[in-house]
Amino acid sequence: AALSRKDDVDLQGGWKVGEPVPYAALAKTFSLIEATTKRLEKTAILTAFFLLVIERSSKQDYESLLQAVYLCINRLSPDYIGIELGIGESLLVKAIGESTGRSVALIKTDLKKEGDLGLVAMNSKNSQKTLFKPKPLTISFVFSRLKEIALTSGHSSQAKKVSIITKLLAACRDFEAKYIVRSLEGKLRIGNAERSVLVSLANAMVLAEKQRATKKWSTEKLNARLEEGVNTLKAVYSELPTYDKVVPVLLEFGIDELRGKCQLTPGVPLKPMLAKPTKAIGEVLDRFENKKFTCEYKYDGERAQVHKLEDGTVGVFSRNSEDMSKKYPDLVEQLPRCVKDSVRSFVLDAEAVAVDRTTGKLMPFQELSKRKRKDVKVDEIQVRVCLFGFDLLYLNGEPLLQKSLTERRELLRESFIRVPGEFDFATSSDAESTEEIQTFLEESVKDGCEGLMVKMLESDASYYEPSRRSVNWLKLKKDYLAGVGDSLDLAVVGGYYGKGKRTNVYGAFLLACYDSEAEEFQTICKIGTGFSEEDLQSHYNVLKPLELTKVRGDIRIGGAKPDIWFEPKVVWEVLTADLSLSPIYTAAQGIVDERGISLRFPRFIRIRDDKSPEDATAPDQIAEMYERQALTQNGGKKKGKEG
Ligand code: ATP
Repeated sequence: AALSRKDDVDLQGGWKVGEPVPYAALAKTFSLIEATTKRLEKTAILTAFFLLVIERSSKQDYESLLQAVYLCINRLSPDYIGIELGIGESLLVKAIGESTGRSVALIKTDLKKEGDLGLVAMNSKNSQKTLFKPKPLTISFVFSRLKEIALTSGHSSQAKKVSIITKLLAACRDFEAKYIVRSLEGKLRIGNAERSVLVSLANAMVLAEKQRATKKWSTEKLNARLEEGVNTLKAVYSELPTYDKVVPVLLEFGIDELRGKCQLTPGVPLKPMLAKPTKAIGEVLDRFENKKFTCEYKYDGERAQVHKLEDGTVGVFSRNSEDMSKKYPDLVEQLPRCVKDSVRSFVLDAEAVAVDRTTGKLMPFQELSKRKRKDVKVDEIQVRVCLFGFDLLYLNGEPLLQKSLTERRELLRESFIRVPGEFDFATSSDAESTEEIQTFLEESVKDGCEGLMVKMLESDASYYEPSRRSVNWLKLKKDYLAGVGDSLDLAVVGGYYGKGKRTNVYGAFLLACYDSEAEEFQTICKIGTGFSEEDLQSHYNVLKPLELTKVRGDIRIGGAKPDIWFEPKVVWEVLTADLSLSPIYTAAQGIVDERGISLRFPRFIRIRDDKSPEDATAPDQIAEMYERQALTQNGGKKKGKEG
């Protein structure tokens, strides 16, 4: 299918071998992807585009393909380097005005009507008469301008940004302005998940190989190679999630040599392994019956992936692969005391927990969240942290992901040193009976933890699975046992004006889960209780700048009617009394029922600034929670539904 799309993506005669990749080809690709809702077709179009890039540039020119990939996922660097776009609406409106000679008021009126600044920019340009045809934009030019904009900071940076954007827009033709503006906003909205970019890239590499082959490939061979290619690239990327390293190797050595040449590397954080919730100890035993497993304290802190490079550099990364070294300079300083001399390099998976240095007691997450997020000075730190190591992913030049947890844990214990208040191993017990687990769970709660993590110890089921929510790790929180169930992490997408004393702030909020397959937010509930006046004020301050003129296209609204829409940026952790089917909200629609699922009596717990909106709870998890609850409530008849 991809091969037959090549002509659609190509620019008739406008892009020859050895020439830089024209941005127009990418814009054309985006518009074709946007025009279809079929996932396979989207992948075929993108594959065709990557294939053209590979065919028309030389092996050494990995930059073209690399920049094309980044523009497709709308990023400018790997997550851990964190060069971000996300330019505000007003700045973009200004730039569109300046480059097209239209007034800000007119552009705003159009925006109200269209709800898509990209479209407004394109239409504004097309209605403008130009005497000279501007020089065609190339991918590398657009990429470098976007990067320049993202990196511009400090004095008069706003004006500088407007000026770069204005010039960039002036050079746009056809669809180009639409996608450049959307890139600048930080969301492409063409319904193209990052996973399909990875799949398309692998497919394009295999097809390029097929084109070069002297013998014709059979369909079976082609299909087998495509499947193999996708699996390889996915596996390698989960260990080394940076296209900066993967793309050059891919082009130079081909997909078969990728595994050998790209491995977990200290300095490049990988997405952490996650756990599935369990509601009862019995479930743990069902799952792990006759297997070796261990229970560890589930500490109530912040995930910290600590890397030490051979040159001595230490990096601390968040659950989201953000660099946290500036937030935790104390951890960086403490670390050398906690590592044996024989250890030259490592990647440690751990939880950073607030501790009271005098009593040695663990403090809840709320204490930890009092710390500043950036530029922390060691002598000014009030809230001290202790690191609890629970996994070792790399040691002295060797990745350990494929070893069993038993082996990894042994290496962890051999390589680190317990230092009171600074480093410890996660308390664990290789318990086996319901009673033992129950006792250990109670102890963990008494010691200030959230509950237990239960992990498979032996066999291939105990490999470390980056970025997976795995059944080989179960979480057992004390709250679950009380029947409350797991909390949810939800994106704040809308607001309702307050009443009475609260007219200067939002009084309630619309929350949404995130479907990464469909790349859309699905509304789930309105939340308005459990906030103090102080909370409401600070939520207002954070959310006000995220207000949008019109709802974004990737929010499945249903019947929700907030007074104001927000750019989804903020994630909250929320507890609920139970879940119910809803004719209004769209969360998990079509999974258990035609209707969506909603939360009854949602309660705000905390802000999750270690999660991005795309990390919000997924619809299938919500469906799972709903079904589990239906099971425990006798045959799934929801209370409050009858009558
Ligand atoms: P949660 O809201 O439960 O933290 P989450 O989505 O962040 O959810 P989960 O996989 O559900 O992540 O729970 C695992 C989290 O618990 C880890 O991300 C980590 O921060 C924390 N944690 C605390 N102690 C441990 C431990 N011993 N092993 C693994 N993770 C632990």
